[in-house]
Amino acid sequence: MKEDFRPQQDEIKERRDSISVKGGQKKQLKCDTHSVSGCVSQRACVYCGARVVLNPVTDAVHLVHGPIGCASYTWDIRGSLTSGSSLYRNSFSTDLQEEDIIFGGEKKLASAIDELVAKHNPKLVLVYSTCIVGVIGDDLDAVCKAAAARHGIEVIPVQSSGFIGNKAAGYRAACDVLLRLSLPQTANPLPKQQYTINYLGDFNLAGEAWMIKNYLAEIGIKINVVFTGDSSYETLQKASATSLNIIQCAGSMTILAEQMEKRFQIPYMNVSFLGMEDTAESLRKIAAFFENKEFNKNTERLIAREEAKVGHVIESAKQLFAGKKAAIYVGGGFKAISLIKQFREIGIDVVMVGTQTGRKDEYDTIGELVNEGTVVLDDANPSELEKFMTEKGAHLLVGGVKERPLAYKLGIAFIDHNHDRKHPLSGYTGAVNFAREVESTLCSPVWKYAKEGPHHG
Ligand code: SF4
Repeated sequence: MKEDFRPQQDEIKERRDSISVKGGQKKQLKCDTHSVSGCVSQRACVYCGARVVLNPVTDAVHLVHGPIGCASYTWDIRGSLTSGSSLYRNSFSTDLQEEDIIFGGEKKLASAIDELVAKHNPKLVLVYSTCIVGVIGDDLDAVCKAAAARHGIEVIPVQSSGFIGNKAAGYRAACDVLLRLSLPQTANPLPKQQYTINYLGDFNLAGEAWMIKNYLAEIGIKINVVFTGDSSYETLQKASATSLNIIQCAGSMTILAEQMEKRFQIPYMNVSFLGMEDTAESLRKIAAFFENKEFNKNTERLIAREEAKVGHVIESAKQLFAGKKAAIYVGGGFKAISLIKQFREIGIDVVMVGTQTGRKDEYDTIGELVNEGTVVLDDANPSELEKFMTEKGAHLLVGGVKERPLAYKLGIAFIDHNHDRKHPLSGYTGAVNFAREVESTLCSPVWKYAKEGPHHG
């Protein structure tokens, strides 16, 4: 390898335990903790975590109580699709100014809720707390309670001040709200609907939840409620009337599944619809749960048909990508695990894997899946990502909106796995889309003109 032309990065000692190399010195990766103070990491804030999960509730007013900047997390960068209301595509903010910060923003919040209720007549208003609200101490609970009584609708505070933890704390705040919405409105539990499931952790990006719904319908299983893709105030209330919860995004939804198991005796299982291998395995697992021979037969027929349709595309991608190396930096550990398998499916070695909110058990699985020498890191900063991608000779980075410029500045290909993408990456259609996207970015002629660097090996 050529000598690195970049100046040596300053190492942050406190970060040492959050980085490991497979086959190197055996150590427990530090994860699920606060970011190191003073080290600007790629991790999003609590409010962002809550907004990602809740924003797809289509008929809610999503009101951000804070300065206008926080409201930049809008539908535009969360491309979940709807079959009903489009109210969620609006981004509302109280736009707190200096004067509100000095004298408090409660009055402004109350009048913003009144104005929005008068204009949109919603059944549900979600009020997101942001950093500054936590600092000035506005009583969100009291303002929401009073507004709910005034208008006779649900007005729910989302306790998501950015600084009170990390993105995972935002997931917890969102799950608290979703559990509250799922509680049956009557004293009696709702009767369980046969052969139905709730699908947790799919935000219907580019209609992905609809694709999975069709697969399951073919097997004989109906989706009761999706959390939260294409959901509404009314659909969420039916959540307890089902036999099984399946979780795609484990990072954000495991807490909700655990709570629903405790309160409504609904068992849960993790699934993944990323890549052919995981899709087939997940469909088989779901069908097996119902112990119905017909379902098993339907599942095998569906898998055989879809694999026959797309298998050759994946096989030819494998030939094309031989020798290429990928780096992964995504939100949750479960997604990272699926992506490692999906890259393996198309013949690409993963040389670096990082996540924003991965848990210990997920990092253990990652450690088992990757090859010797792969760097695994939790809550990374841009300088670490640059260092390891360069050292490991990655040709491609898969990540979210914050990682794209980093990849392009390094002159390597980039795959968008964030909420703003407009094409599905789930199921068999998604497996093909993923392979094609890798091809179009990796094989783009632009890299010929990018400045040569050591990472081009
Ligand atoms: S809540 Fe705080 S950290 Fe999050 S976007 Fe707003 S100001 Fe930034």
